[in-house]
Amino acid sequence: MKLAILSRNETLYSTRRLYEEACAKGWETHIYDYLKFTVEIMKDELFMNYGGKKILRPDAVIPRIGASRTFFGTAMVRHFEMQDSFCVNGSLAISRSRDKLRALQILSKRGIDMPKTVFASNQSDPKDVIKLIGGTPFVIKILEGTQGVGVVLAETQKAAKSVLDAFYGMNVNLLVQEYIEEAAGTDIRAFVVGGEVIGAMKRQGAEGDFRSNLHQGGSAVAVKLSRAEKATALSAAKAMGLDICGVDMIPSKRGPLVMEVNSSPGLEGIESATGVNVAGKIMDFIEASLHLSPAPKKRK
Ligand code: ADP
Repeated sequence: MKLAILSRNETLYSTRRLYEEACAKGWETHIYDYLKFTVEIMKDELFMNYGGKKILRPDAVIPRIGASRTFFGTAMVRHFEMQDSFCVNGSLAISRSRDKLRALQILSKRGIDMPKTVFASNQSDPKDVIKLIGGTPFVIKILEGTQGVGVVLAETQKAAKSVLDAFYGMNVNLLVQEYIEEAAGTDIRAFVVGGEVIGAMKRQGAEGDFRSNLHQGGSAVAVKLSRAEKATALSAAKAMGLDICGVDMIPSKRGPLVMEVNSSPGLEGIESATGVNVAGKIMDFIEASLHLSPAPKKRK
């Protein structure tokens, strides 16, 4: 069994843990910096080179693609898919989850609840956008933002208009969202592997911050999900077609609301908050999937 882990940095906690647990299974495991691949495409031939050498087709691939490298990273994952390697996650699902708007469109279609969201280009009148979202307070999110950067709470009409003017003036793609005040700076991350929630944590934002991201100084503790939260997390993972993901939800009066579904969720926060061997569960899932389908699964 050959496993390829695609990661730009082998010293990252998540990459190290995946490597350790794959080695513990006795698998031949390689970590590849996916930006260093060169691919060859010819009629009926798809090759992958690394460090000047062709690499043999891995049986399974775990892509850990950075948000800023989605285009190249997903192209490399697609190349492995074309070679019939089992990729967790698949390239299409990664691309879908990376685009916040596209992800919300898919989730909406599957009947999954979320904060009401309005999207418009910078050609539209900010006043109309503010009216559609129902006035202040509301949340402004830069589409390409991650880890809470580019998420702004607009509390007054004046602030809202000037922030929208500034972002639109810089030609930034953004969406505006209903502010869920009762979430009070907490969110829940459910870690899903192969259609099961294997652990969940509640994150609380730093004092005075409505964002709960750990990168913004938030803290995390293990949490037992309600039935509704569990069902929502599993439906969201399924809708996005992600085998491994972190589903971020915020609690609200009308039940759990999905914020986003992360296709390369970090392992450090969830492993330390819950004590669950998440990396090991990912390997168990790969093992079960490869046994279930003797020919590696194909993705379209
Ligand atoms: P990122 O992808 O950058 O992490 P998110 O959309 O997940 O951005 O938002 C970051 C955090 O801000 C969330 O985890 C949540 O705590 C808070 N937040 C985001 N949107 C809302 C909202 N509509 N209402 C209340 N809190 C929100």
